[in-house]
Amino acid sequence: MAGRIPQAFIDDLIARADVVEVVGRRVPLKKAGREFKACCPFHDEKTPSFTVSPTKGFYHCFGCGAHGTAITFLMEYDHMSFVDAVETLAAMLGVEVPRDESDRPARRYDELFDLNARVARGWQQQLSGHDDAVDYLKKRGIDGATAKRFGLGFAPDGWSAVLDRYGKDAEAIERLLSVGLIIRKDNGRHYDRFRDRLMFPIRDARGRTIGFGGRTLGDGEPKYLNSPETVLFHKGRELYGLHEARQALRNIERLVVVEGYMDVVALARHGIDFAVGTLGTATTPEHLNRLFRLTDNVDFCFDGDRAGKQAAWRALETALPLIREGRQVRFTFLPDKHDPDSYVNEFGADAFVAALDGGVKLADYLISELASDVDLDSVDGRARLAERARPLIGKVPEGVYRELLMDSLAAAVGLSADKLKQLLKPGRDNDAARDKQRPLAKIRRIGSHGGPSVIRRAVTLLLNHPEAGRELDASVLAELERPGAALLRKLIETVQSEPNISTAGLLERWRHDDEGRYLGKLAAANIPAEEAEFDAAAELSQCLGQLKLVARKDRIDFLIQKQRDSSLSDDELAELRGLR
Ligand SMILES: [Zn+2]
Repeated sequence: MAGRIPQAFIDDLIARADVVEVVGRRVPLKKAGREFKACCPFHDEKTPSFTVSPTKGFYHCFGCGAHGTAITFLMEYDHMSFVDAVETLAAMLGVEVPRDESDRPARRYDELFDLNARVARGWQQQLSGHDDAVDYLKKRGIDGATAKRFGLGFAPDGWSAVLDRYGKDAEAIERLLSVGLIIRKDNGRHYDRFRDRLMFPIRDARGRTIGFGGRTLGDGEPKYLNSPETVLFHKGRELYGLHEARQALRNIERLVVVEGYMDVVALARHGIDFAVGTLGTATTPEHLNRLFRLTDNVDFCFDGDRAGKQAAWRALETALPLIREGRQVRFTFLPDKHDPDSYVNEFGADAFVAALDGGVKLADYLISELASDVDLDSVDGRARLAERARPLIGKVPEGVYRELLMDSLAAAVGLSADKLKQLLKPGRDNDAARDKQRPLAKIRRIGSHGGPSVIRRAVTLLLNHPEAGRELDASVLAELERPGAALLRKLIETVQSEPNISTAGLLERWRHDDEGRYLGKLAAANIPAEEAEFDAAAELSQCLGQLKLVARKDRIDFLIQKQRDSSLSDDELAELRGLR
């Protein structure tokens, strides 16, 4: 099996690859100053907001937020895996991809995907032999072809079917544990997580099985059981059925978010191939970003009960920061006692689509909820409305959509737009809501003495001007215990050991880390406009100067605290006197 691709090779590849050529072969680019522009290939638009920067080796769309390196572009545009994208890029440049056989992690991931695939196949083969399971599917109207398309299977009763078959040695058992297929008991023994359940493999966008959902056939509890969070499976990111939808549809015109896997499968059975399911979690911004990459029309379909209404309101709050002109979000509430599965089985596909088409638009839903039980004839009532609306409207990005939303709200509540705007004058809530949407906002908000925002600024500067960090004295960071300080230190170390690294090169270094996603957003932060006289190196050392003061203050606070606790040593006392 192939080993991991050495980082040095990726550094080199990114340094040599021309992002303009890679993108330009697939999307017609127009030169605009130092950058290139195009209509974004990842969302529908008429005026170009997709920018490619050759010096940074980076592309970014101001419309939908898509961004990344040449490798990312191949992955997203051609739906390639990381390894395939690296190989394609290498082939363009006429070089061979070396394999570092000694490096194990990537191989381990392959093994884990492979293990999930084998277990899924095994369960699939067992399905037809279990009458209960087959009957259950028949009763729900699921035919063989649909079951096959979604890879449905059956995990038989018993404590060790998976363990016995796939856990032959200690290493195999570790793998089963790490994908959550077995559970370790206190006494060190193991047993199968999924027993006597109808099994739904959960696939990532590329069709690899990353986890499972299991449903009991009888009255067993819990009714639904998912794989735990694992290295492969992150509930807040994945949408059940997205891979299948992409396989089934050439153009995705709309997507509907439903709650359960059975809903997705039942809808697909009725020819509605555009349903996806959240996996037992509320809709996250990541979910929505993924949906909006594929289509501008997202419907949410909820049960009509109280829980459904609550889930809808939370989805609305999550959607607000991502809403803009051209994007349409609607909410459909099914009649009492119905879920999409039962509804489509009883009334058919056309009725379901009609229900979606009749869904409430996000703006209307927002306004009707805000205006409910508020007496707009009274001053108090209007104040209350403004209080409710302010944090929500504050989440909507400034722009045409926000203006229209304000106008509709004003009309609905019988105020003039100006009067409403006055009522909604930004308060503290507004800022807090907006901060939440910003990458690394957490870092910025934690400390109140300027340290974190300075760190964030330094990270942004370094990413966009890696060369500016070459001569930087970063010693202060070693003792700074603030969020983001460690990341900043690693970035500086990297640009100093790799003096020719570009923005794209840095992003590739962090591709497989959580921080990578934030870095991508920061790298997009100040493309394109930058003044010629801008001195990034000077700015950076100024940032570090400020951080030095922060570190000093932190140290003083720490020593004073120790002094209060009477645990200050003589050396520390001397140090404290020196610092003051
Ligand atoms: Zn875009």
